[in-house]
Amino acid sequence: MSNESEKFRTYAHQFVDWMADYMNDVEQYPVKSQVAPREIYHQIETGIPNEGERIEDIFEDFKKIIIPGITHWQSPNFFAYFQANTSTPSVLAEMLMATLGVQGMKWATSPASTELEERMMEWLRDAMALPKDWTGVIQDTASTATLASILTAREQKSDYEVNTKGFAGFTNFRVYCSEETHSSIEKGVKIAGIGKGNLVKIPTDDTQAMDANLLLECIENDITNGYHPLCVVAAIGTTGTMAMDPLKEIAEITKKHNIWLHVDAAYAGSALLLPEYQDLINGIEHADSFVFNPHKWLFTNFDCTAYFVKDKDALVNTFAILPEYLKTKTDGMVANHCDWGIPLGRRFRSLKLWFVLRHYGLKGLQEKLRFHIELAKWLEDEIVKSGEFELAVPRSMNLVCFYYKPSNDISIEQQNQLNEKLLNRLNSSGKIYLTHTKVNNVFILRMSIGRTNVELAHIRKAWDLIQEIAMKI
Ligand SMILES: *Cc1c(COP(=O)(O)O)cnc(C)c1O
Repeated sequence: MSNESEKFRTYAHQFVDWMADYMNDVEQYPVKSQVAPREIYHQIETGIPNEGERIEDIFEDFKKIIIPGITHWQSPNFFAYFQANTSTPSVLAEMLMATLGVQGMKWATSPASTELEERMMEWLRDAMALPKDWTGVIQDTASTATLASILTAREQKSDYEVNTKGFAGFTNFRVYCSEETHSSIEKGVKIAGIGKGNLVKIPTDDTQAMDANLLLECIENDITNGYHPLCVVAAIGTTGTMAMDPLKEIAEITKKHNIWLHVDAAYAGSALLLPEYQDLINGIEHADSFVFNPHKWLFTNFDCTAYFVKDKDALVNTFAILPEYLKTKTDGMVANHCDWGIPLGRRFRSLKLWFVLRHYGLKGLQEKLRFHIELAKWLEDEIVKSGEFELAVPRSMNLVCFYYKPSNDISIEQQNQLNEKLLNRLNSSGKIYLTHTKVNNVFILRMSIGRTNVELAHIRKAWDLIQEIAMKI
């Protein structure tokens, strides 16, 4: 055995010990990193060391310099944004992936990477009740998948001419989403050359969901005024408050006007593994594409985005490119996933999914998701009972949005200031981490309850702390 691999074995065992201890002790760290700007930067050497260094020394610096600058996303007291979960089967698979160091760009560059990915996407598609004739492919992020969707819509609508000739003759495209949809839609529209000015943000109703009547009105007005409605993005679970756009009504409109329909379920999509939520995607058969992130609520390390399309040929026709150096004997017989999206190189991400889906099983995943939703329900009940806190919007799945309102006599400005102060105190305590949003100018605290190993005890402690700190401000 080579000296190099023996050294690796020794260090790897030490690292795994550290990893297991970290998972055990993650609650001991301040959830949100408490360092000041540039505090980490100034501790890092100003250039590449001339002489190689020992792994022991680098590892010591990792513990001493890097860890204080880490926000502990895997802490069960992390309730900010949406979760970016890991789990033990996923981390184990990441270790194998890193070791193989495979590029899954073409079938021939690692057949197992392509074929396992095909199977994993079928597993998810069928368990989530997506249409049986759709095809899935893994992307790095939901942002990239949404960009791929907008580009595919553009190419299909222009008969693949924008790809060859540029925009000549294809001006005035319009894309529609609600005022509450994720910023990645606007980014995608900008990158796709459609122009931010042609992204129409449809007002929402009192549940923060897209108003389908206004969508129809906007589309018909645009047509009258010489625009070409290209694509509608419907959100199943908005980032602010997890609002659900009315997919069925939106799909009727896009069908009638022959408009591409993309569904962004980046976070909430995982809950489609629960049959009781599957009617949220009624009408999906009339959509063209759907994205969700197993790297959020499905216990799979970032990155792993599942992107499903009705017409895989439209996707491949948008992206395929075949220079001489990429030609292989099996082209045309197999899927070459480099033609299914933007990057050429691709990590072996399906390996993580395989480990996660097999290790938990559908039943285990469903139990976890339902448990997180129950915990959110518990907190919702406490808030309703409290008298001093109010729900900002009804709880949606595992997201609870609320604010502190100690009396009816304070103005909205005073209330907002109180809640901002409360949030800052909570986060600088290091004990829990929440983030905020605004709904109708009201500052609200969001508590997303979906960390892999969160228990009722964590929610009780968090709720006690929220009340205790609120009393003191
Ligand atoms: C998180 C999120 C995104 C972006 O996801 P990335 O994978 O980070 O690009 C898009 N849409 C919604 C609704 C999200 O919650």
